[in-house]
Amino acid sequence: QSPSRSPSKLRKPTNYRKDEKSKPLKEIALIAKNRDERRARQADEKAVKDAILSAEQGNPYWEFLNMINEYRHNIEFQPLRESDIVVDNQITVCVRKRPLNDKEYGKKEVDVITVPTKDILIVHEPKHKVDLTKYLDNQHFRFDYVFDETCNNELVYNFTAKPLVKTIFEGGMATCFAYGQTGSGKTHTMGGEFKGKHQNFNNGIYAYVAHDVFRYLQHSKYKDQNFCVSASFFEIYGKLVFDLLAKKERLKVLEDGKQVVQVVGLTEKVVERVEDVLELIQRGSHERTSGQTSANSNSSRSHAVFQIIIRKFGRNVKNVVGKFSLIDLAGNERGADTFKSNRQTRIEGGDINKSLLALKECIRALGKKGTHCPFRGSKLTQVLRDSFIGEKSRTCMIALISPGVASCEHSLNTLRYADRVKELVANDVDEL
Ligand code: ADP
Ligand code: MG
Repeated sequence: QSPSRSPSKLRKPTNYRKDEKSKPLKEIALIAKNRDERRARQADEKAVKDAILSAEQGNPYWEFLNMINEYRHNIEFQPLRESDIVVDNQITVCVRKRPLNDKEYGKKEVDVITVPTKDILIVHEPKHKVDLTKYLDNQHFRFDYVFDETCNNELVYNFTAKPLVKTIFEGGMATCFAYGQTGSGKTHTMGGEFKGKHQNFNNGIYAYVAHDVFRYLQHSKYKDQNFCVSASFFEIYGKLVFDLLAKKERLKVLEDGKQVVQVVGLTEKVVERVEDVLELIQRGSHERTSGQTSANSNSSRSHAVFQIIIRKFGRNVKNVVGKFSLIDLAGNERGADTFKSNRQTRIEGGDINKSLLALKECIRALGKKGTHCPFRGSKLTQVLRDSFIGEKSRTCMIALISPGVASCEHSLNTLRYADRVKELVANDVDEL
């Protein structure tokens, strides 16, 4: 069984399928085995760390930790596997939980997120009764997929953005959003995995999409179509738009009488191979974070939009065939913090809130035919307008959450938002 075969086999180019089929079964079995071993090893390491934690007198959460461990002890885990079927949805909403990091372990953070199956996630919210007895409020959520802390970027890609690549060859628009609080793993997922401060741009969703776009181009169906691939990278900061491929030059957004929205002067570089794209990703990412000191910097207050565009040469013109927009959204924590912050931060928080609310409504409208898409609600939805219309448009949201108890409120906010983007019925959930 191929690891990522989608149910709509007919629409995939054949050489691509052959390619996947020819992957030896042994190799697939080996990948699965490695993953199982990695999972087991991580579980062991975590058990040791947990044991140390719960033994520590000073940890105010040790009783909760024991309750969570007991809860987990009674679950038969059936996590997502590489071989699981990738469903062809118009709208896909999923959640990824990152591991606790060393800093959080250092602060005696407790992991309050459990992922029992491939589509269910549980938040163990610590609570107190009136008589101060401690108890857990175990809240269940269901999504298209839930990725636990053992999943890497490639696996996340296979279930989220990968099935959308064919869309842009068939005249549709594709979008993939990373949503979540600052520090939850948005940039890690979209741009590439971090090793300390160094980011590996080869294994982010941007790069994986680029790889697959060039693979599709090789296919006989598209090879002689005069398709031309290009890319742009820009940042939306409040109402302002900056070109990340042109030293953050400020750009204007214009809308003509036919509601066609244009980012005037946006750099669009023709790319001929994956390496060209990687170079642009690297350049734009550095531009985005340059001159910033902490994680709590400008980049967490802006949306980064990376686009891969396919155009077809006609007589003197290059018409857009399809566009894949990949968006590393601003941190969603701003709204919640508005009381404590200064005026500037409050205004920014308001803008971010507004854009995230407009985004949610636009995605919901895409899923319900005939519903109005309120794209003018924010700069973000305005520039992405053509992605939210048309039968062929498809979108995917990856909600990222930090596992620690200190992030519990933010995680619940993120999960509720994602839940509203696509309301999946959570039957059977209570049986767990
Ligand atoms: P965000 O962009 O949402 O603010 P980042 O992507 O910068 O968050 O991630 C914050 C930190 O957490 C980074 O050091 C990153 O390497 C780490 N991290 C995020 N997701 C994961 C993951 N799935 N596995 C391991 N580390 C992760
Ligand atoms: Mg980031």
